[in-house]
Order: sequence, then C-alpha cells, then structure tokens
Amino acid sequence: MNSKKPHILKIGALSLLIICTLLLLVTYLGALHIDNNAYRNLISLILFSFNIIILLTWLYFGMTASLICLTIASMFMSLAVAVSRDPFLNWHLVIFCLVMLISYYNDKKNSVIRGLQVAELEDIEKDINTLSDEYQQHQLQALALKKSFSRFNILKEVTESLSSSLSLAEVANLIVKNSFNIIGKADACMLFLVDEKKHKLILASIRKNSELKDLKVEEADLFDRRVLRKKQPLIIQDIRKDYRFDYETIKKQTREFRSLICTPLISKDRSIGVIRLDTMKPEVFISEDLRILNIIADLGAVAVGNAKLFERTEELAITDGLTNCYVQRYMRQLAREEIKNTAGSENKMSFLMIDIDYFKKYNDDYGHIAGDIVLKGVARMFMRLAGPKAIVSRYGGEEFAIVLPDTNKKEAVRIAEEIRRKVGERVFYLRRQKTKVTISVGVAAFARDTRDLEQLIDDADKALYEAKKSGRNKVCAF
Ligand code: GH3
Ligand code: MG
Ligand code: MG
Repeated sequence: MNSKKPHILKIGALSLLIICTLLLLVTYLGALHIDNNAYRNLISLILFSFNIIILLTWLYFGMTASLICLTIASMFMSLAVAVSRDPFLNWHLVIFCLVMLISYYNDKKNSVIRGLQVAELEDIEKDINTLSDEYQQHQLQALALKKSFSRFNILKEVTESLSSSLSLAEVANLIVKNSFNIIGKADACMLFLVDEKKHKLILASIRKNSELKDLKVEEADLFDRRVLRKKQPLIIQDIRKDYRFDYETIKKQTREFRSLICTPLISKDRSIGVIRLDTMKPEVFISEDLRILNIIADLGAVAVGNAKLFERTEELAITDGLTNCYVQRYMRQLAREEIKNTAGSENKMSFLMIDIDYFKKYNDDYGHIAGDIVLKGVARMFMRLAGPKAIVSRYGGEEFAIVLPDTNKKEAVRIAEEIRRKVGERVFYLRRQKTKVTISVGVAAFARDTRDLEQLIDDADKALYEAKKSGRNKVCAF
C-alpha cells in the first residue's frame, strides 16, 4: 500500500519528521527563555501535532516508521515533562498509544483485506491462465476443423468429379488431374492400372508440368511395383539420401526424380493400380500430401472398379458369353452404322450367313459340351479368317453371321470359301478321338442401289438354304 502512494507524499512526511526534530530542539532551547504559560501551550501543540505525524508515518511508511516516530514523540514528551516540570503532559503518551493502537488495528484489517485481494488476484490470474489455455486449445481445434473442412471439400469435389463418368479412360484422367492439381507440387503424376490378362502395370493416365514435355513414361518402375506388391503407400523425401534404397544401383533402373509419393488403389483387398507423384526437387512432399493422395486413391479405386464393371456389363450386353462373338442385335446395330457411313460411296458391303452341318447329330454323338467346344473353336476361326474389319456375330444356336465392310461379292465368296475349307480341315480332339465339322455358307452383297440390311440378310439366308439343299459343306452366293 505504502509503495503505491505518490512520491511527493513520502517527501512531505519525511519533511514533517525533520521539522518535528527541529521543533524538539527549539522546545528545549525555548524552555530556557520564554515564559511558562506560552511555553506550555507551544509544547502541547507540538505534542498534539506528533499524533498527526505518527498517523501520517504509519500511512506512508508503515508500522516500523510509525513506531520510531512514537519513540521520538515519547522521548520529546519526557524531555518536555522534565523541562517544564508539568506531569500533565504525560497524558500525551496515552493519546500516542491510542493512535498507535488505531493504526495497528487498521493495519491488521487492511492486511486481511490485502490478503483477500491477493488471493482474489491469484484466482483471477489462475482464471486468466486457464482461459488462455482454453483459448489456445480452441485455436488448435479451429485449425484442425479448418483442415478437416478443406479435406472434406477436396473429398466432395473428387467424389463429384469421379462419379460423373463411367468410362475407364475418363475416370483415370480425373484421378490424375485431381491428384496433380490438389497436391500441386509435383512435376508429374501417373496412374498405373493392373492389366489382369497381361499381369502387368499399364500406364492409364499421365499429367506433367509444361517443362517436362519430353518425359516419356511407358512402364511402371520398381517403386510403383513395390507399392502395388506391399499394398502400402510410399514417401521418399530425397532418393539420394534415403537409407532404404541404394541410389547408385536404382538410378539405372528408373527415370530421374528426387522426391516421390506413391499409393496403391485397393479394391476388395486387391491392389488394382498405383497413383504416383514425383518431382525433380528434394524434400517436397509432406505426410499430409500422402494422406490426401490416399483419400483420392480410395475414391479412385471405387470409381475404377465401377468403370471396369460397367465396361464388363457393356461387353456382356454386346457379346455372346460362349463364343465371344457379337450378339445378333449388336451386329445389326453395327451393320446399320456401317451402311450409313458408306452411303453414297462406291464401297461395297457383303454378308455371310453360316450354319454348321448336322450339328444336332454332332451333339447327339459327342455330347453338348463337345458341341460347345466346337462352337467356340469355329467362332475363333471366323474372327481370325474374316479380317480385322469384319463384324462376326452369333446369329443364334449354331448359326453365325459375318458383316464384311468394303468387300464385294467376289471377294466375299473367296473369304467364305477359305473359311469353309479351313473349318472342314480343323480337327477337334474329344477324349483322344478326332472329330470334324463342316459348314455351309450363304453369301449376299449390296447392289449399288439396294442398301437395306433386312434384304441383305434375307438374301444370305436364301443362299444358305441353297447350300444346304445342294449337299452342305458348300458356299452359295445369292
Ligand atoms: P443342318 O443344319 O445341317 O440342317 O443340321 P443341324 O443338325 O445342324 O440342324 P439344326 O439347325 O436343326 O440343329 C441345330 C442344332 O444345334 C440343335 C442344337 O442341339 C444345336 N445347338 C444349338 N445351340 C447350341 C449350343 O449352344 N450348344 C450346343 N452344344 N449345341 C447347340
Ligand atoms: Mg441351324
Ligand atoms: Mg445346322
């Protein structure tokens, strides 16, 4: 409390003390000269003013200073009593003590109040500390929320863009585009998908920054294969310093890069591909980047799975399950498109209607499964012998139809003859027994002015009937 009083008050109180001491001297000297009554009044006044001094000293300097002041006042009073021989002046001591007692009592009370104030202050400080801790925690939580919000936004954007397409090529491009743009630090981003027939990782899509125009990536390297095999994401901060890899050995086996992140696309517990981002600069990627890439890879795996399923469903809808040839409906669609495309041109189109001879008997003799093997075998021969542009379809049962674009009747008859001959020569082994089948073929071609598919099929059918009637294992043209 004292220390908080203004400096000027302390100086004032000190000056008072000095004045009192001087007065003490004056009183002693004065006692020798001035008359008794005036002197007595002066002494009483001085003694009385000591009370004020004691009070002020207590107020501004505390108890100790106040006690010193009381001692001085008592000494002065004793001196005054001795000089004036007036015992009545001793009463001033009682007044001094009363003032001291009041001061002491006040001080006590104030110190209790001070104690309470200190305790209160400590409580407030504690509260401030707790609040500042809470504030920091909230700030961290807000930051975490902000991060999850931005991650959620990424997730939403990627999900929306991936669900917008069912084409595998488009989905692959979207996965790469999203990864490249969202992470944004890579020189190149590649998606490799597993080709189940070739058992290889094939590049499905690539995106690179404009400076890397010459970068050619055709095959996955050892890092991509490692991620696929281990089904674990990989982060390399600097390939030259990474203790897991011997840089000198691996730099011959892979193209140049310094840092990389790579993660697998996992669908139903199987790795179906890997997504990889790399750059020529070291120490570029952080674990947060890998976390985002993992999210995109998870979403990508679902999208790739859906796109593959869709492709397969489409394939099943247009191809025959047993022979892999187009179904009749799809053959008609393709044939119509072909007719439309060649409308008005000089190009011809021919049509073959093929039927296996005595196939009912073949089934009866060797069984239905053997019949199926023959159907598959002849279908493969048709696809191989009819040429790359041919549209080979299973017309129904053991009948096949082949559309031959850009082929005139003469050429069609030649192809049909070759097919008939080769099928006739083909041996189907059944339980070590050699079996053979023959086919009859009806050929029809578009005249320059007739461009009706139904008419063409009808003509080919009639020619086939003719081939059957004239002994089978024959090619007849309408
Ligand atoms: P042809 O054509 O020479 O007059 O005699 P065919 O015995 O082939 O006559 P038809 O066309 O009447 O018989 C077709 C036979 O093809 C009947 C059926 O058992 C058989 N067939 C049809 N579809 C299948 C199939 O998917 N698998 C098997 N194994 N046989 C089939
Ligand atoms: Mg038939
Ligand atoms: Mg038949």
